Parts: sequence; structure tokens; C-alpha cells
Amino acid sequence: MQSFKIKENANLAKSYTREDWQGGYQSLKQEFDYWIDDIEGQIPPELQGTLFRNGPGLLDVNGQPIHHPFDGDGMISRIAFVNGRAHFRNRFVRTEGYLAEQKAGKILHRGVFGTQKPGGWLANIFDFKLKNIANTNVIYWGDKLLALWEAAEPYLLEPHTLETLGKEYFHGVLSAGEAFGAHPRFDPSCEQDNGAPCLVNFSIKPGLSTAITIFELNLAGEIVRKNSHNVPGFCFIHDFLITPHHCIFFQNPVNFNPIPFALGLRGAGECIQVQPNQPTRIIVIPRFPQRGKTEVKILEVASGFIFHHVNAFEVGEEIFVDSICYDSLPEVEPESDFRQVDFEAIAPGQLWRFYLNLQDGTVQRKLIEGRCCEFPTIHPANVGRSYRYLYIGAAHAEFGNAPLQALLKIDMESGTRQLWSAAPRGFVGEPVFVPRPDSQQEDDGWVIAIVYDAAHHRSDVVILDASDLSKDAIARLHLKHHIPYGLHGNFTSQIFAPK
Ligand code: FE
Repeated sequence: MQSFKIKENANLAKSYTREDWQGGYQSLKQEFDYWIDDIEGQIPPELQGTLFRNGPGLLDVNGQPIHHPFDGDGMISRIAFVNGRAHFRNRFVRTEGYLAEQKAGKILHRGVFGTQKPGGWLANIFDFKLKNIANTNVIYWGDKLLALWEAAEPYLLEPHTLETLGKEYFHGVLSAGEAFGAHPRFDPSCEQDNGAPCLVNFSIKPGLSTAITIFELNLAGEIVRKNSHNVPGFCFIHDFLITPHHCIFFQNPVNFNPIPFALGLRGAGECIQVQPNQPTRIIVIPRFPQRGKTEVKILEVASGFIFHHVNAFEVGEEIFVDSICYDSLPEVEPESDFRQVDFEAIAPGQLWRFYLNLQDGTVQRKLIEGRCCEFPTIHPANVGRSYRYLYIGAAHAEFGNAPLQALLKIDMESGTRQLWSAAPRGFVGEPVFVPRPDSQQEDDGWVIAIVYDAAHHRSDVVILDASDLSKDAIARLHLKHHIPYGLHGNFTSQIFAPK
């Protein structure tokens, strides 16, 4: 286990090898269903519930490699914690595209991030049909388990079997092909719903101007509010933020040139170019326009690229926003191989705080954490509210860009940090904070993450004590196989495990 002393050694040697890291990008074709019996430590008996994770399970289709992990077919991993035991199950989302490609034994669809049908540009020209791969996030809300991909409708799954039931349209409120984003926010107490929790999500319809649609869902899983807003310019927006009264979007400074995509030369995502001389626009939209506050405010701040935000909260007329920013975005090149990435040549994600003044329209920003980091999580009760602790995947070394091998806890009040590292041969995915039942302290709970262990080419489910991340793991659950590096997931207190 590592403490902050590791920084003294940061420049001596790399904390990883690329070959080890590459091992986590092999397809997992098999579907498993078993009680985990190889465990170091003990699963806390109070930890009851289910962690759902989503991510690309296949990095190839019958041996034909996909061009980028973001194009990989969604695979759900489910880890259920019950009375000190844990059960694992994984299933691919049976999307139309997955079923057709598995049947054909070859790539039939272009991917947003550059996967092309075999046969060169002639086989891909003017083919705008993309595969809904349902690979980005999975949520359990309103008794529905939904696999999310930001450019299309969600897939509904059966939570006990992980069987794919079909696309979800929320009683027709979502129309065929309409997008439902992959980064919903869970409002723990919605003013419009008399303090009941609600789920807020969005979708982007890009064009010369962009339509942003905001969905709010009640506890029954119904869309109870749906509002659309037009904002100028092309938007690439992956994540957003909520406060009790606002939704906040960061419009990354990018250009989109669709011609290489249309000609079959590049994927749509490869046609996005960061414009470093342009500012990032921050779009602040009132959540409840029917209350008379309808004005969309657009603020500007110096450039940076953002995939993920941590949290936002209101302080008087200001909104504080914490986000992971990149100085630049590596372009996905048609001839490149993502497995050969030169980590040191690209900019690290770093944690910044933005101060949005809604009165005078100004934005200030401050670097909070310069260590390479990505995939934040906080206590779910603090979404949209002021908070103290955040947990985030981080590089083992304090400086430079590197794969995520550690988990970092930041005390936003005192500034102190704690680090747990899986280096040299471990690689971490997105952590999830799970509060201990009836806890009083914000950091009383567990941080759970899936860690790829290159030494055994398998993944571990690691449970850490969130109150002290520098301690040894409470439990390390060794799976019988690896899980390809995933994207996002969520924990529910409902238990989905065989009886
Ligand atoms: Fe994401």
C-alpha cells in the first residue's frame, strides 16, 4: 500500500509497463455467473447491494479489431454484495448491432470513434448508420436497469438475469432514435417534487446550432419534465452538472468537419478538432423554466477539454463547479492503434474548480489537483450540494500523464490527500462511493473499484475504507477472469443475486 511518500520516487521509474496496461484491453467473450470465493480480507456485512458496471466487453468482432475502445459492445458486470458474500455475473447487452455482428462474424457497422467496416473507404462512404452499442453507463432507477449510450435510446435489462429486454421509450416520451445521455445525475432532493429524489439527464442534438434536451424522471422511472433549449454552435458534451435550480453544460471548444466521415475515411469522433484559441462556453439552464426563470446564460472561460465533472453547487449568486480538464485532446487518427498510445505525449486530466458568477457573467478558475486523474465520485447525498470529499482514479506518480493505477481522496476543505495505489501491475477503473447505512460522516463508507491485475491477467473488485484511503484494502475479491477496462456504473442498495 502506498501513501503520499511515493512522490519522492515519482521520477525514478515508470510505475507501469505498457504491456501490462494493454492486457486490460483484451475482449472478454465469455459470460460468467458465480459466487466469488477467492477473497483476501472480508466483505463488510453491512455492505449490501449491487454494483452495476458497463464498458466495452469486446475489443474485436470475431478477430477483426475495433479501432477504439469507445466503439466496443457494451457488457454489463454485476457484483452483488449480500451478508458478507459477493456474486458476479456479466452479460453483453444484446443490441441489434451486437446480435447482427455476432451472427455475421464480422464488423457490419461503423463506430463513432473510427471503427470501419472492412473494405476501406468504398465500403464506408455515405454510411451514416451507427451502432447503438449501449456501452457507457448503467443505472438502476424506477425499477428499471438501463444501459446507456449517449447518442441513442437506452436498452432495458432484466436486473436478475441481465437479459436484454429491448429499447426503453418511457411510455413514448422518448421517440425512436432519440438520444438519452450516458451521464444522468441523481438529485437527492428535488424541490419540484416536494423533496423526493429525481434523476436528471440530457441529450444533445448537434448541428450548426445544438438542441439540448433535459429530462427529469421521478422515482417511478417516468419522465415528468422534458425541456429543450437551442444554443449556438456545434456541441460535444459528454457530461453535465446539476444544482437544485440549474443544469450546467460545458461546451468544449471544438470544430466538427463531417466531410472525412461522409467519405468513409474517418469516424465521426475523429472529425472533432479542439480549438485551443477559442474559449469554453458554459451554458447555465434553469431546471424549472415554468417557474418564470427561463433565461439561459452563457459564460466563457479559457480553453480546456472536459469529459467529466465532479459536482456543482450554489453559493449565493455563484455556482462552484469541479471538473476534470485537459489542456488538449489527443486526436484519434485513422491509422493509429490505441494500444500503442504514448501516455507521456498527451495532456493529463487535472481537477479544476470554476467559480461562475451569474450576476456579472464572469468565471474564475483554480487548479485543485495537478496529478493526472479521471473518473470522480462523491457521496450521493451531496450531488448538486456543497461537499467535502471526492474520490477519483489517479496516476501513481504525482506528475505527468499515465494510466490510472491509484485512487485518490481529496478533502476539499483541508486540502489533504490520501492515496491507495495498485501499481506497479494494477490498473484502476472508476471508483464508486457507497455510504455505510445510517452513517453520519460524509466519508463513512466504502470506495469500490474494479482493478485489473496484470500479474494474473484477471480483475479484482477492491473495497476500500473511504474514511482512510491510505489503509490496506478491506477486501480484494479475485474474479476468475479479467474485465476489460470499463467506463461507468452505479451502486444500488437493492440486492440482485441468486437466492
Ligand atoms: Fe463518461
